[in-house]
Amino acid sequence: MPIAHRFIANHVSYFTGNDDCDACRKTECTEKNHAQERQPRFFECIANESTGKPLLGYLKADVDNLGGVFACGLKDGNGEDVGTVSRVTTLSRMLDVFFSGYMQKLIEYNYPELYTVYSGGDDLLVVGPWDSIIKFSDELNTKFRNFTCNNDNLTLSAGIAFVKHNYPVYRAVEMADNWLELSKDSGKDSLTVFEHTVKWAEVGNILKESQKLSSWLSQRLISTGFVMNLLSYSQMYDKFQNTHKTDYLKFIPLMTYDIARNLPSLNSKNDEDVKMRQWAEDLKDITNPKLKNLGIIANYALTANRGGKDG
Ligand SMILES: [Zn+2]
Repeated sequence: MPIAHRFIANHVSYFTGNDDCDACRKTECTEKNHAQERQPRFFECIANESTGKPLLGYLKADVDNLGGVFACGLKDGNGEDVGTVSRVTTLSRMLDVFFSGYMQKLIEYNYPELYTVYSGGDDLLVVGPWDSIIKFSDELNTKFRNFTCNNDNLTLSAGIAFVKHNYPVYRAVEMADNWLELSKDSGKDSLTVFEHTVKWAEVGNILKESQKLSSWLSQRLISTGFVMNLLSYSQMYDKFQNTHKTDYLKFIPLMTYDIARNLPSLNSKNDEDVKMRQWAEDLKDITNPKLKNLGIIANYALTANRGGKDG
């Protein structure tokens, strides 16, 4: 493939002062006294900058079908091959400019907390606080769509793995790589996060819904137990989708009972209560995209609130 790594984005998150392990002061960080000005931040400190659970996100992303684009993509209106050396080189260089130069600036300015393992050619591997990594992945895709003028033949796939800061790097990379492969196998132009694969077009909405549920949970308007139940209903929904066994549809009466028992009524005088109840009511509609993506939404809310099994 005519792709060479020339410029490589190399931004890493670093300490700006000798004791600026601010996020870590609140928690038990073992690196508390080791911060040195202008030295890269420790992975433990980066994980501690997360919202809720101190987890690292490993994001691996690359361009879909690049071999095909180079082999068949450079044709004129009559289908004549115009893949001259200069055109191939230009396409290759432009992609490299995006992944090295442009990404370097985007991370430096908007996501200084991220650690770039590499970014150049047609792919990248970035590590950071779990919630920044999700937000960054969405912006990465949006910027890539803009950069390629929404050309449908040039899309990205990505996978995100979440691990504790001391988890072996090579194994975390392997996990992110497996999720990336799942995105490729699920029709590409996709992101796999929290073990669910979704098209990029859905990601913005999923993040909005995740933040909604997360804020209700942090205000204690709903309980961790309720959100954990939502997660198990979403697993039953997924099993129904995969097997078409109607047994799994019993999550609907279970969820209906759970909502009636644990959430405020639609007649509540409090607007937020009504919004929340309506949000939950929508989940009973099996065609609602929120139900399809509930696995990501509920996992996000639990992780952001230190909930879940090992919270
Ligand atoms: Zn620290």
